Amino acid sequence: MTAVDAIIIGAGQAGPPLANRLTGAGMKVALVERGRFGGTCVNTGCTPTKTMVASAYAAHLARRARDYGVVVEGAIGVDMAAVKARADAVVAHSRDGVEKWLRGMPGCTVLRGHATFTSPTEVRIGSEVLSAPRIFVNVGGRAVTPPIPGANDVPHLNNSSILGLDRVPEHLVIVGGSYVGLEFGQMFRRFGAAVTVVEMQPHLIPREDAEVSAAIEEILRAEGIALRTGARCIALAPHERGATVQIHCAEGSPTVVGSHVLLAVGRRPNTDDLGLDRAGVATDGHGFITVDDTLATNVPGIWALGECNGHGAFTHTAYNDFEIVAANLLDGASRRLSERIPAYALYIDPPLGRVGMTEAEARASGRALLVGSRPMTRVSRAVEKGETQGFMKVVADARTRQILGAAILGVGGDEAIHGVIDMMNVRAPIDAYRRAVPIHPTVSELIPTVLAEMKPVG
Ligand SMILES: Cc1cc2nc3c(=O)[nH]c(=O)nc-3n(C[C@H](O)[C@H](O)[C@H](O)COP(=O)(O)OP(=O)(O)OC[C@H]3O[C@@H](n4cnc5c(N)ncnc54)[C@H](O)[C@@H]3O)c2cc1C
Repeated sequence: MTAVDAIIIGAGQAGPPLANRLTGAGMKVALVERGRFGGTCVNTGCTPTKTMVASAYAAHLARRARDYGVVVEGAIGVDMAAVKARADAVVAHSRDGVEKWLRGMPGCTVLRGHATFTSPTEVRIGSEVLSAPRIFVNVGGRAVTPPIPGANDVPHLNNSSILGLDRVPEHLVIVGGSYVGLEFGQMFRRFGAAVTVVEMQPHLIPREDAEVSAAIEEILRAEGIALRTGARCIALAPHERGATVQIHCAEGSPTVVGSHVLLAVGRRPNTDDLGLDRAGVATDGHGFITVDDTLATNVPGIWALGECNGHGAFTHTAYNDFEIVAANLLDGASRRLSERIPAYALYIDPPLGRVGMTEAEARASGRALLVGSRPMTRVSRAVEKGETQGFMKVVADARTRQILGAAILGVGGDEAIHGVIDMMNVRAPIDAYRRAVPIHPTVSELIPTVLAEMKPVG
């Protein structure tokens, strides 16, 4: 048995920076990774998808070239093998960077293999057993295969296997109209596939405000994506051209035949094969490791960071978990998970940048509210760019005059939302924002205007 000061399981978004901080503080650290360095984000999540979204945007803009007075002769084609090669290269560069960083980190030993707990202070990797007074679990999650009839009878894709396609599917049917499904849906439509999105709920991304969902549906339909919402009886069956997806919607054809089916219906934590019971670590009913406000589990000396604790399904939330744990352990801080203001983006084009509460959540909280909004048709930068779909909306507490949440669906929305994120994190009132002098012409410059025009609601 090898004794170290700390064991980290998983080289995803929290593990490597934590190894860096712990070794920097003089600890001997062992980091175990069973798969690819960088985890989901680098290999099968953020990095490949956003690289491919960029290719899809290039194809889209090339088709719209005439709108800008640019002449492109002939039809716009997409070389899927080249799109894939570009994404693979960006991913490989990032993954190799994480591996090199860890292997060159003084005080850090990298072990390859599947880690399982054998006790609250011991972890086995193959024939090797490590012990440490501190163990950090950063094992992430994986795509769920839903229990829909026929799912085992038909070959289907998930967020990992779809990245292996080097030809554009004839007709991609996506089961799941949320963040992952919509990014792939628009991207493959722009690559030239027919795309149908099948969603059980009456609207896409139903956690967002209804007007946000409706605007996104309009954007996707305008590109020729078929949306089959309210699909209550989803089932798969083999078909000579690929697969039949049964929908049984109230309206329209009850089935759709696709050459390829992508199941994008959620993720589950990688905690079922970790031997957590041998360490006595508690999980919830979905397998997420139960943690307190400092990311500590119920077993002293064991922490859970990132997607596996169920408190965030994003790279930035996993990284923030690392920051909280490192600051509390090494800097004498008392940072808390509950201080985190949720923020994220949906990377369709135009993107949706989101922070804090939706308007529906803010209304349900019973507060008196101020709400301001503006269509992107009234944002000069969007007009100048010829990309005027979407709108921005900000919700504030009428009493404290602090922002509760915002949505920017529009060109640059994923960047412009950061002005609001920063305001919310310093808990500044809207009046402070209104004194700022933003740069013209930008999407961000209209946020103070939206704040100035807010109206009471509720
Ligand atoms: C298609 C898609 C697109 C996404 N896009 C974005 C985006 O744009 N922005 C964003 O913020 N988030 C995005 N996400 C989510 C983001 O990728 C994840 O939330 C993030 O990677 C979670 O990080 P993590 O550190 O918790 O886990 P991971 O990154 O999954 O890392 C966990 C690591 O642990 C390893 N591991 C697991 N079990 C063991 C074990 N027993 N022993 C040893 N090693 C183990 C795994 O191999 C893996 O390398 C996307 C996800 C998907 C699927």
